[in-house]
Amino acid sequence: MPIQNLHSDIPRKRIALFGSTGSIGTQALEVIRDHLNLFSVEILTAQNNDELLVKQALEFEPNMVVIGDDKKFNKVKEALKNTHVKVFGGEQALEEVAALDAYDVMLAAIVGFAGLKPTLKAVENGKTIALANKETLVVAGDIVMQKAVEKRVPVIPVDSEHSAIFQCLVGETRNRIEKVILTASGGPFLGKKPNFLVNVKRDHALQHPNWTMGAKISIDSATLMNKGLEMIEAKWLFNLKPEQVHVVVHPQSIIHSLVQFEDGSIKAQMGLPDMKLPIQYALSFPQRLANKFPRYDFKRPGQLTFEEPDTKTFRNLVLATEALFKGGNTPCVLNAANEIAVYAFLRNRIGFLDMTDLIERTMQHVPFIEKPALEEYFESDAEARNFAASLIKL
Ligand code: NAD
Ligand code: MG
Repeated sequence: MPIQNLHSDIPRKRIALFGSTGSIGTQALEVIRDHLNLFSVEILTAQNNDELLVKQALEFEPNMVVIGDDKKFNKVKEALKNTHVKVFGGEQALEEVAALDAYDVMLAAIVGFAGLKPTLKAVENGKTIALANKETLVVAGDIVMQKAVEKRVPVIPVDSEHSAIFQCLVGETRNRIEKVILTASGGPFLGKKPNFLVNVKRDHALQHPNWTMGAKISIDSATLMNKGLEMIEAKWLFNLKPEQVHVVVHPQSIIHSLVQFEDGSIKAQMGLPDMKLPIQYALSFPQRLANKFPRYDFKRPGQLTFEEPDTKTFRNLVLATEALFKGGNTPCVLNAANEIAVYAFLRNRIGFLDMTDLIERTMQHVPFIEKPALEEYFESDAEARNFAASLIKL
């Protein structure tokens, strides 16, 4: 039963869900399912999982779907032939569909660099972005945010830390931020040292203590690269200087991040770790919607603790901080090398600690560009991928 809402006279927001079969995508559909009076699903996209895409399309009856893998196009088309759902295939279709007027809000939930082009297209198209795909801002944050300002497009964070900061900033538009503090769970290997990490395998690294997420971000959380990417994401989302972005390890993941203002006052946003909350907030902003998600209970025994990240062991955070301060194409190169490293680790081709070495060597190899044009970001991405891949022994 959809939960009743007071604002039922408002026209439904039309949602384009890019990356609907992923961890964020499926949780977004759970949120939407509870609020069908407020949201309609107009576009669904998936890369490989045709069966889930078809199942979602049959339930939510979108205007159109895109299956990224061309080989699966006919299968999806056949499965939806008795419906009104239009079916498109291939990478190019993602951008074409993003350029249509058929939706109000894009939930950008594709993983990795692949999310950049469709998201940028949606911004150019004047569509509100609910942004899960942090890599979009890591790669080309200056261009994306500049375009968003030009087109007056709100970019509302879905990433829990950034959603927390965004929520802390409501009503504070005229007040200066001294710094933001991103909380990090520390991942499954908190407290471990290199002599342990050298033997870590993919299945162990995929087990996150507090969150269930897609494979790439789970590995990024285990290496702390996720927090590094989030530092860069925060800089662009909130127009901060690199030195205003801080990280603290908070293993319980109850405080999702903090903002300190120039009077020293600190605001935090808290709750149980559940991505459905920031997803729902981004879709319904500026409203809050009632829901039945479990609540944090202060009466239950437990402690909220904080510690410094161990950057000697988790050197990815040092590399990402370097990219944050250096700017230019360095975050783009860091991201590309990281994607190659993570997928190589997931295929058991390289070890856990090799990921950092691969990223570091790629950052040293690709020439620095201070103010890249969009094409130059694409070139830096390709160059970094090729170089990083060449370092992986056959
Ligand atoms: P996932 O791997 O579970 O899902 C990724 C989705 O993107 C799938 O629908 C897949 O079909 C699609 N996709 C993958 N490769 C693609 C390609 N080349 N072209 C087009 N589509 C492609 O990932 P996820 O965990 O849902 O994460 C999605 C994004 O959200 C990531 O950028 C991640 O950093 C961010 N994020 C995720 C979480 C989380 O809890 N999962 C939290 C915060 C931020
Ligand atoms: Mg996060």
